[in-house]
Amino acid sequence: MALLLKGGPVAEAMSQRLLDQCATLKEAGVTPVFAIVRVGEKANDISYERGATKRAQALGVEVRSFVLPESVTEDQLVETLEGINRDSGIHGCLMFRPLPLHLDTPRVARTLDASKDVDAMTSSAMGVLLSPSAVGYAPCTAQASLEILKYYQIPLQGKRITVIGKSMTVGLPTALLMMNEEATVSVCHILSRPEDTRDLCKDADIIISAAGCPGLVTRDYVRHGQIVVDVGVTLGKDGKLHGDVASEEVEPIVEAITPVPGGVGSVTSTVLVGHVVEAAMRRLWKDQ
Ligand code: NAD
Repeated sequence: MALLLKGGPVAEAMSQRLLDQCATLKEAGVTPVFAIVRVGEKANDISYERGATKRAQALGVEVRSFVLPESVTEDQLVETLEGINRDSGIHGCLMFRPLPLHLDTPRVARTLDASKDVDAMTSSAMGVLLSPSAVGYAPCTAQASLEILKYYQIPLQGKRITVIGKSMTVGLPTALLMMNEEATVSVCHILSRPEDTRDLCKDADIIISAAGCPGLVTRDYVRHGQIVVDVGVTLGKDGKLHGDVASEEVEPIVEAITPVPGGVGSVTSTVLVGHVVEAAMRRLWKDQ
């Protein structure tokens, strides 16, 4: 049976490092501050905000919530973000997306200063994967997958990695991060021939699936000795969360796999808070 690559211990180890960094910041008189911008009262946003706030506060990061009514105008929202840009006491900002339909999400998102873009709202997040001198932070879910592989000491250099999914928020940045680790990366997507996706998965040392398609990765896609990172999360009709991997048939074959829930998702919010702490550290170095 496969080793379960649980996210909990990864988040715990990262939290230890963040507590140390927050202690260093405190000695210099700095408290990292995280702005959360929410428009409306979507249950998912409120629940994520609650979780992120709890995690941030536990690590010594202050959270400031900016809650705006569903009827907010684009100019009012842009003004809120510009205020956050100007406030030197705020180090990082998350805005829940997509925004209500009357608001132009990409236009509003572009307002945010790249140095405060801890949740990949602007194109700076992709830029940082393409150039080491770019300002910004990698998309959190992609980085969470990398953190898991590193924590469990899974070598990446020269390994064949197949990524399923090429969205700007998950699949594509994951592929770029893996290339930056010197892996040989193949990317499959919805228009790939299914037999190619299957063959590229079977041929890989590591499969990272971020399709949002429950049961996509079956026993036909895998072989002994492989590592599988299941990024997909879909709420099933049974009220449970399902990954992309048909885990009951894949787990007996592969060497290691991330569970759903309890895998990548449980590392993502720690990566996010980590970006806020990193932003505060960068500002401190700049000011010194
Ligand atoms: P998306 O819909 O934007 O992109 C899905 C990608 O998968 C697309 O590139 C599409 O071409 C590809 N795809 C879909 N079905 C496919 C198939 N049958 N074969 C090959 N490729 C296929 O979704 P997203 O925002 O990139 O999210 C992907 C998944 O990751 C979702 O399940 C989402 O819930 C999950 N997710 C998890 C976390 C986390 O923290 N664990 C965070 C964000 C997203």
